[in-house]
Amino acid sequence: MATNITWHAGLTHEERATLRNQKGATLWFTGLSASGKSTIATALEQHLLSLGLHSYRLDGDNIRFGLNKDLGFSEKDRNENIRRIGEVSKLFADSTSIALTSFISPYRADRDSARKLHEEANLPFVEIFVDIPVEVAEQRDPKGLYKKARAGEIKEFTGISAPYEEPLKPEIHIHNDKISVEEAVQQITEYLKEQKIINI
Ligand code: ADP
Repeated sequence: MATNITWHAGLTHEERATLRNQKGATLWFTGLSASGKSTIATALEQHLLSLGLHSYRLDGDNIRFGLNKDLGFSEKDRNENIRRIGEVSKLFADSTSIALTSFISPYRADRDSARKLHEEANLPFVEIFVDIPVEVAEQRDPKGLYKKARAGEIKEFTGISAPYEEPLKPEIHIHNDKISVEEAVQQITEYLKEQKIINI
């Protein structure tokens, strides 16, 4: 019986990337609550999709309420939250998609573990530090979370009553109190082109 199905045993990452005509990567956004991670990641996802590239955003809405709904905000649970996000983003990157992760991810060791997972699998990991002073984050505060944290209604709130460990050497540093969302997307896109992660 003639079929048009082609296959051979095993499929390497390189073959998958060639057939899909795209390299995979994880773009790991980190920064304080209200620093602009989700806004920039959403705009970037739209831009990459409009270029015909496959991209997908992992954020609180689709991870915290699903895969990680058993986790809270203690240090141990935050570690496990990030560990799982690291593993899931790695699968997206291995599938040759561009995974955008948008989580505070306050601990350096956790982000470094996610980086190591990718490096061991030879997949690009781009740490994007969305940096604004905590005072500006507190002024923006679109969800009123800082207000609640100051009132003691939210315990262990990053930047107020829990630590945020700034990246020491992020691949991309966005000063998001000084530039527009469009400029931030452009800054990231330029980096991806330079690194030949995208070629459009
Ligand atoms: P995060 O995902 O880091 O919690 P958000 O993406 O929800 O932060 O952004 C917090 C607020 O800051 C939103 O109201 C958003 O519109 C605003 N914002 C994000 N980036 C910028 C920017 N470059 N300039 C001005 N406001 C911004």
